[in-house]
Amino acid sequence: MAYSGGLRAWLRSVVPQVPRVGAVLWRIGDRLFDALPADCLLCRGRATAGGLCAPCHAAVTASTRDGRRRCPTCALPLEGLVGCPDCAAVAPAFDRVIAAFDYTFPGDLLIHYLKDEKRFACARVLSALLARRVRADAVGLPCHTILVPVPSSRASVRRRGFNPAAEVARALARRLGLACRPTLLRRVREGERQASLSRAARIANAQGLYVCGARADGCDITIVDDVMTTGSTAHVIARAFKNAGAASVRVAVLARTRHHLSSS
Ligand SMILES: [Zn+2]
Ligand SMILES: [Zn+2]
Repeated sequence: MAYSGGLRAWLRSVVPQVPRVGAVLWRIGDRLFDALPADCLLCRGRATAGGLCAPCHAAVTASTRDGRRRCPTCALPLEGLVGCPDCAAVAPAFDRVIAAFDYTFPGDLLIHYLKDEKRFACARVLSALLARRVRADAVGLPCHTILVPVPSSRASVRRRGFNPAAEVARALARRLGLACRPTLLRRVREGERQASLSRAARIANAQGLYVCGARADGCDITIVDDVMTTGSTAHVIARAFKNAGAASVRVAVLARTRHHLSSS
């Protein structure tokens, strides 16, 4: 009895440590990945650190140094525009978007390699790029923000076998020391494929697709996704979280498309 009691006590003390040990091991893995030389994921040249060689890293992140004026809310480049046409057409329910880079070559290839070729090393590279943008952002993320990946449709999960946004959200959470709670958001039906729809139709289509898994009273939420095009999905999800009591909803995406789509 004394032994089983001791065993129970030992298990009670060890079990809560398991996720913490796992997190530490993941962080060590990220550090090694960042520090050890490897082949560049894009050109197969020598990557000195973090999975990309210096020229490919510079090419992927070029849009972060292009000096373009951007919408402070949705991060759309505003070349030649007085205000943001997308935010003027539909006031977004989210408070701010942070994007690691614009959705152009060659950054789009990294996303393609992750999503369609299941090269999971890309999730590490992409989350590192996004973490760097979050840290460099003038406003950044609230310190207790909860990361919530956009759930994939069931058809996408069946096709790919995983949700790319969840992979990025988990890796980003590790790098920023934030909580990641995929269960806070559920996708309750399939909906039409967004790519073929206009912006207004996308918002209507996304309506009712997502349900918050719990109240979010006073919480700061950051929605994580791979690519933001019209922002319709983020808008609908942000509204759901605000209706569930969230204090703020931000959006962290790997890539932002460059063209405004209010007219579509
Ligand atoms: Zn390279
Ligand atoms: Zn905007």
